[in-house]
Amino acid sequence: RAKADGKSSLRFFDAEMDQHIRERDQLERELKTAVARGDIRPFFQPLVDLRTKEIVGFEALARWSHPVLGAVPPDRFIPVAEDTGLIQELSESLLAESCRAALDWPTSVTLSFNISPVQLKEPTLGLRILAILARTGLPPSRLEIEITESALVRDLESARSVLTSLREAGVRLALDDFGTGYSSLYHLRNFKLDKIKIDRSFVSSMAHEHESAEIVSALVGLGHGLGLTITAEGVEGSEQEADLLARGCQQGQGYLFSQAVSAEEAVSLLRPGQDRASAAGQ
Ligand code: C2E
Ligand code: MG
Ligand code: MG
Ligand code: MG
Repeated sequence: RAKADGKSSLRFFDAEMDQHIRERDQLERELKTAVARGDIRPFFQPLVDLRTKEIVGFEALARWSHPVLGAVPPDRFIPVAEDTGLIQELSESLLAESCRAALDWPTSVTLSFNISPVQLKEPTLGLRILAILARTGLPPSRLEIEITESALVRDLESARSVLTSLREAGVRLALDDFGTGYSSLYHLRNFKLDKIKIDRSFVSSMAHEHESAEIVSALVGLGHGLGLTITAEGVEGSEQEADLLARGCQQGQGYLFSQAVSAEEAVSLLRPGQDRASAAGQ
């Protein structure tokens, strides 16, 4: 159809591109106000110990509730925030709100927070994060920073000094989306990491792709040897959960357990006696 109808599908594509560009322009114009007004807030997705089924942490995930567009996902506005230089201000307000939310959780429950590669280019980032911890009263040992491998590739020196200062203060480090980027064992040797998060593409293909399943097993083995926690992202089904458990994976995160929820709902997921069934599938 695309061939026979080349011109009109091209026109359709143009229109879609146009729409996309217009929407991005709109987000760019409105982002500053949204940040100032606090329209972008953290939601929290549980990290679960696969053996005990207990919630051991929450990952803060940014959500923009836009008056016209509705819920704008982070993949659409984080890049805009990076390009416009708003990422620092946005990230700091999200972190402060997340830390305050974490103070309502048991002290054994950690907060995971995403930092984008662009932010790691700023050498004072470590100090800024530590200042927010001090101001909100969340102990550094309860914070885990999630970075992707591209962050370590882009500006190695700045990343190294930021991550070292955080680590020395007791903040933990996780490598996010492992297996999708410049996966290099070099990073495991040269950065003191606490955790590897296996990208959800491996988890979703484990059942029908021998390679993915073997990669998961190998990473679990590597994790054991290096003293790292292995977390599987995107756990959606109980078969996946069972398979991960059988392969020795300690932690999981995914819609099987819960989507990201508001701070209030996060606290209610932690309430003793509340079983997992009521948290899943929202
Ligand atoms: P991420 O850090 O890898 O976060 C995991 C993403 O997978 C989240 O998407 C989450 O909602 C989604 N997810 C969780 N469980 C499942 C599942 O079972 N199935 C599927 N299909 N997806 C699942 P989300 O919230 O749209 O975030 C996308 C990305 O945006 C994040 O990927 C992270 O890189 C970035 N991000 C989110 N919040 C922030 C933030 O505050 N700052 C920065 N710099 N980046 C953020
Ligand atoms: Mg993450
Ligand atoms: Mg991830
Ligand atoms: Mg991601």
